Amino acid sequence: MADAKFVEVVNPYDGSVVERVPEADEQTVRAAIGAAEAMRGTMASMTANRRGAILNQTSRLLEEQTDDIAQLMAKESGKPMRYARGEVGRAVETFMFAADEARRMHGETIPLDAAKTGAGKIGYYVRVPVGVIAAITPFNFPLNLVAHKVAPAIAAGCPIVLKPSPLTPLTSLRLAEIMQEAGLPNGAFSVVVGGADVGRWLTTDERIAMITFTGGVPTAEAIAKVAGLRRTTYELGGNAATIIDADVDLEDAVKKNVIGGFAYSGQVCISVQRVYVHRSRYDEFRQRYTEAVQKMVIGDPLEQSTEFGPMVSDDAAKRVDSWVKEAVQQGATMLTGGERKDRLVPATVLENVTSDMQVMCNEVFGPVVNLLPFDDWDAVLDEVNDSPFGLQAGVFTRSLAHTMRAIEKLDVGGVIINDVPAFRVDNMPYGGMKKSGIGREGPRFAIEDMTALKMVVINAGS
Ligand code: NAD
Repeated sequence: MADAKFVEVVNPYDGSVVERVPEADEQTVRAAIGAAEAMRGTMASMTANRRGAILNQTSRLLEEQTDDIAQLMAKESGKPMRYARGEVGRAVETFMFAADEARRMHGETIPLDAAKTGAGKIGYYVRVPVGVIAAITPFNFPLNLVAHKVAPAIAAGCPIVLKPSPLTPLTSLRLAEIMQEAGLPNGAFSVVVGGADVGRWLTTDERIAMITFTGGVPTAEAIAKVAGLRRTTYELGGNAATIIDADVDLEDAVKKNVIGGFAYSGQVCISVQRVYVHRSRYDEFRQRYTEAVQKMVIGDPLEQSTEFGPMVSDDAAKRVDSWVKEAVQQGATMLTGGERKDRLVPATVLENVTSDMQVMCNEVFGPVVNLLPFDDWDAVLDEVNDSPFGLQAGVFTRSLAHTMRAIEKLDVGGVIINDVPAFRVDNMPYGGMKKSGIGREGPRFAIEDMTALKMVVINAGS
């Protein structure tokens, strides 16, 4: 940030300034909440047909502008184009799923006459929007994580004020323009740019009915302290694990775990951080995995060929670098890796790690994958669970018994069989156990949180 009035958005690849955007002051934040509050009635009474149409139109406009938006995202976040494009494609679907849910949102009749005192009464409930939503998002998916808050909010009939990460605000500012073009009334979705202060003004304002947060545990804890008696959902981090059984096709497992561990330099909440490989295949996996990691094309995120680029900031890169050095000092072996150059931390694979090293027990959120051999299926499931987090886990096996035991025992929000924990599509319920969060996203599930049930009882007898 350059001064008190502007947020300087920097391209993590070359350090150039992409754009300077005005930083919201307290008055701007309060005004955005006021505008949202003023839209409550309009949004609550907007027909499902209209809400669905706005969301579908947003989806279409995003699709038309895929390359432009992907480039903007690549510039502000350092995300390679192949992944930035993929993210736009996912947001196109997120809006489409939310449009479908807007049309499908409904209540239910309740047989009140099942109760002795309910005879002659007709009962049903409807879903009503909770009110103004405050959304706070991280830097790593500047479009699709924003979509996962804005699209269900509009589907539910809730106005929303968003504070994106100050590192990557440009994509959400573009999205707000697109949604206006798609027909969303002024004030129903505002973006306020800034850091923790802006977040605090937003989350402490009494007009906010619900806070939906995606980011790290320390920030979630700070928000929980001020949230009081309001709805809150938290989508937090993890140290996701993959298990590779003795009987699997290693070529497939290697390929998926390279992308799962190193896409966007591991700055993904479900990035593969721990890979447990059956001892009988460990040496073979280690060799093939290390070779494949070394073959990734490193370069400018804006180049089509780039597979691996910089981390988002100097601070992030320095932290990951120091954790790797600490692990090596504590006895880990570096199979591939090397010296950090500014924000570029080389893709790093470690072995001989122990569960108390930071690279194992904390969320690395960087390009580091730990390899560990295992002998026993039940014991490895316990090892995966030996974590403060529980977002998703990947299990590669051909054994039905092993599959079923993994599904039963793994204490995570999503068990992904024969793929990596980083797998996600946007209509599934997504979220974590333990410190990985509270609540689930995916339009249908977010809408449940963004609406309240209103019960109606009609005394038909009088
Ligand atoms: P972060 O917690 O540092 O910041 C997230 C957001 O909170 C930013 O917009 C930040 O400005 C804001 N913020 C900071 N202090 C605040 C305060 N006191 N009050 C209100 N807002 C405040 O996270 P980050 O570094 O941007 O993102 C990385 C984290 O996000 C990782 O832990 C990652 O696992 C997590 N994440 C989770 C998911 C998920 O869906 N589970 C998805 C992506 C990222």
